Amino acid sequence: MDLKNHLQKYFGFSSFRPGQEEAIQSVLSGKDTLAILPTGAGKSLIYQLPASLETNKLTLVISPLIALMKDQAESLHARGISAEFCNSTQDEVEQMKIISQAVRGELRVLLISPERAMSLSFLRVFAQMHLAYLVIDEAHCVSQWGHDFRPEYRQIHTLREKHPKGDFPILALTATATEKVRTDVQAALGMASPKVVLSTFYRPNLKFTVEYPSTERDKADRLLELLSPWKENRKIPGRAIVYCATRKKTDEAYELLKDFGFSVGKYHAGRTDGIRERTQNAYTTGKVPILVATNAFGMGMDQPDVRLVVHYQVPSSLEAYYQEAGRAGRDNAPAECILFYKNADVATQAFMISKESNFKGGDTLLKFIKDYANQLICRQVQLCAYFGETIQPCGICDICMQSDLSPERDKFLKNEEVKARKKEEKRTYDFDETEEEAILEFLRQFPATFGKNLIAKTLAGKKTKDILRYRLERNPHHGKLNRIPEEAIVAKLEDWTERKKVFVSGNKYPKLYLPQSGPVKRTSGRLSVDGTVPAIKPKKAPTENSQILRDLMNYRDKKSRQLKWKKFMVFQNPVLKRIAERKPRSLAELEATKGVGPAKVERFGNDILEILSKWP
Ligand code: ADP
Ligand code: MG
Ligand code: ZN
Repeated sequence: MDLKNHLQKYFGFSSFRPGQEEAIQSVLSGKDTLAILPTGAGKSLIYQLPASLETNKLTLVISPLIALMKDQAESLHARGISAEFCNSTQDEVEQMKIISQAVRGELRVLLISPERAMSLSFLRVFAQMHLAYLVIDEAHCVSQWGHDFRPEYRQIHTLREKHPKGDFPILALTATATEKVRTDVQAALGMASPKVVLSTFYRPNLKFTVEYPSTERDKADRLLELLSPWKENRKIPGRAIVYCATRKKTDEAYELLKDFGFSVGKYHAGRTDGIRERTQNAYTTGKVPILVATNAFGMGMDQPDVRLVVHYQVPSSLEAYYQEAGRAGRDNAPAECILFYKNADVATQAFMISKESNFKGGDTLLKFIKDYANQLICRQVQLCAYFGETIQPCGICDICMQSDLSPERDKFLKNEEVKARKKEEKRTYDFDETEEEAILEFLRQFPATFGKNLIAKTLAGKKTKDILRYRLERNPHHGKLNRIPEEAIVAKLEDWTERKKVFVSGNKYPKLYLPQSGPVKRTSGRLSVDGTVPAIKPKKAPTENSQILRDLMNYRDKKSRQLKWKKFMVFQNPVLKRIAERKPRSLAELEATKGVGPAKVERFGNDILEILSKWP
């Protein structure tokens, strides 16, 4: 079969791009295939071409990019390939209509969201579909180590197991796969010794630079300077994206640029779908050439002529950075990627990552960003190395062109080093038994009441506002460890937390408690701390059930926002309590719980099991 001919005839492309043909051949031979090609490399073609060769079988494509499914289906239509999409933007009737078309064999391609693909109503008919290929787009979403983890993705492997034939190959597509993510993806999808197609991550036309602004003011000045070529009444040089980590910063940077007369748009998850869509349109049509955005903007919205990507704050990982910065220069013409590196922003990211429950390894991901900013190694060499690729120095980044190194860099690094050394010195201390006991006693007295910093400050004998507010300076433990640096006590508590000697409750304000601490005795409703009147009452340590309940309630609240339903329509509190108590392990067990009907199981069942699966 002449693939090139087919490519020309059906897709209008004269040749394959790197990696495409190899991956397509592998898919056609029926082998599980993992294609790791940078964004914009043309991964969709890898399933579209094989799908277009089928005469009666279906190619099922699972994709988290709801916003793009319609376009993809339409572009397939335009090529004479019968394709539909199925996701939450359609009502149930419409979704069922499309799914039955797929069952009847009327479709060559069905694009489906992971939520939908994992729903019971889909799974029920899935066995009747004649599948040619199962495609997982944005496959890194499978991995907790990736930067865009989707819990539903972890269940995808059951599809092939559930199918009576199960004779179709899996094609996984992603732009970002470190060794870790790659093995995770293969295992989680149950891919049988797949063919791995990897193409280069090196982007010769991109100039990477890191700058070290010391204040927000510096950042603002520098941003205005960098964007000066976009000033109105000049010829616009192309597009520019300014990425921020928080919505607040996005708003700030946007206002700044607007005040200075730039034609600029703003994109973040807090805006309504309508406004977001309009912003996106204004940007894609070129009416508004500059966009300030959080990472909510991006996946798939690629424009060829992005000349500048500024990261106004550090991103959450090197993977995210590569993907976001990599939106520059898709047309292969020169473009710049500039990262503003500031410690306070790293702290912000660390905080946001730690807030996201069930996310592990945030510190590790941030460490790569720190290394990227601070090591004297070609930026692209570092980026490619992160993705497991070895390249020669790029010759154009700020490290390669020493003269372009930001003058603040040296100052910044020296400061960092001194600070890190001092901090580490303070953190190292050898506790004796009495000293450890003092900490434990305090925790026993105040289970799940204070965080590590306040505990350390109290024991170290500090008199901060918080300590005075809680009248902890009157507690007999106050100052008991005043010979030990507060940092060392924090380090000890962290160590204990890691070794599960101490537990943490609460996400936003994590509070520590000892595992065995039971209900606390109270004297006439108040606990006598030292004979004086205590300002606060210690609380009961949270039990496992109450933590499960909290997770379930968080999930319920999130869904109610997403679906714009009242909370009780999703789940009432007593029902969540029953679930937390019974901890069902299967959909059937869940359905047997009072107050949980089949409709609820269908819509939320897998998510709930996923939440419960985190508990023994
Ligand atoms: P990815 O999913 O890898 O980010 P896409 O599949 O969305 O990339 O493709 C990016 C663009 O490249 C699309 O506009 C697509 O039409 C185009 N493209 C794909 N393959 C080829 C090819 N062989 N020749 C020219 N253009 C291609
Ligand atoms: Mg894609
Ligand atoms: Zn370089």
